Amino acid sequence: MKSVYLDHTATTPLDQRVFEAMKPYYLEQFGNASSIHEFGRRARAALDESRDRLARLLGASSSEVFFVSGGTEADNSAVKGAAWSMREKGKNHIVTSAIEHHAILESCLFLSSHGCETTAVSVDADGKVDPAEVEMAMRPQTGVVTIMHANNEVGSVQPIAAIARIARERGSLVHTDAVQTFCRLPFTVDELGVDLLSASAHKLYGPKGIGLLYIRKGTRLERLMHGGGQERGRRAGTENVPLAVGFAAAAEYAVAEMEKESIRLRGLKNRLRVMLSERFTSILLNGSHERSLPHILNVSFDSRAIDIDGEALLFNLDLAGIAVTSGSACTSGSIEPSHVLLAMGRDEQTCRATIRFSLGRSTTEEDLVYVVGRLGEIVERIGKVR
Ligand code: PLP
Repeated sequence: MKSVYLDHTATTPLDQRVFEAMKPYYLEQFGNASSIHEFGRRARAALDESRDRLARLLGASSSEVFFVSGGTEADNSAVKGAAWSMREKGKNHIVTSAIEHHAILESCLFLSSHGCETTAVSVDADGKVDPAEVEMAMRPQTGVVTIMHANNEVGSVQPIAAIARIARERGSLVHTDAVQTFCRLPFTVDELGVDLLSASAHKLYGPKGIGLLYIRKGTRLERLMHGGGQERGRRAGTENVPLAVGFAAAAEYAVAEMEKESIRLRGLKNRLRVMLSERFTSILLNGSHERSLPHILNVSFDSRAIDIDGEALLFNLDLAGIAVTSGSACTSGSIEPSHVLLAMGRDEQTCRATIRFSLGRSTTEEDLVYVVGRLGEIVERIGKVR
């Protein structure tokens, strides 16, 4: 049976070249990067070099890049760490958006039971945050502003530079979750103007279990992990050298191929959009057309026109060998409607009948023709036209 993977936003396959780059650090250069003997020194050199390579891609200095276990840890460390440090200055208010990843929203929820207050600004129908709304939400006590660079469900890209300018002028730290944009969109940390930034390797054909937190020089941040003095005291725990090497290699390959691949993916995404619109009159596109990531297409079946059970839809697509999701990987499998689509003004029933297609390196036009064909058969079978 044909198998089509269209869930690259959830995770990507490991690039074979990246796997080859990592192998020696599992089998031969296996030393602990904190050991002072030869084995340790070689591991340390690989770790430092990986950090340098990632820092270069971010336009940062190596001393501002810290390895963590992934996007979730980077987000938790940034928001909790910044909130705890800012509390010492009497600041206990956080501004975020309604469409953040759960790693941010749950961190804010946790902090609200520890003396902080959060304001989540709303988004427009395209899933975009208005910098003026962030400005209005800010108070003299605002210590942290955290807004994602691009949304993982609908792909909307946020005006982070404008938001960061406003927030920093008012004395707040600025964090952005760039898990979906690092090595997919061209930017440097100075162009964005942020103090803190999260990224993760498995979204860009790198290994799972490693990410980075960029911390601008001079930023005070309480740490989450206590133990040995690894990562210059910011994050205790034996450094994962093979994964760091894999992250740096994956990031460099992704950047080298970024321009060409973005154009190819945007072309395929537009083709898919047109095919879906021609095939289904009841389909709604979610998210901005202009300011969106090239590989994410999120659509819903309009509940006013057709009644479709979202879970049955995904289940049947899976049976047809098509891997997609209705939203973020962490919440799929549950029948909860997406908090992102609800914030964009969609009704609950429409939110449930949603498919997020996220394309990747292996995606071909032939795959998309197959997907639209099978989707048509499934919708005819399980949908009830109103
Ligand atoms: N932030 C965003 C925007 C994401 O899409 C994800 C993963 O889906 C994460 C954070 C969490 O990253 P990780 O899977 O590396 O923990």
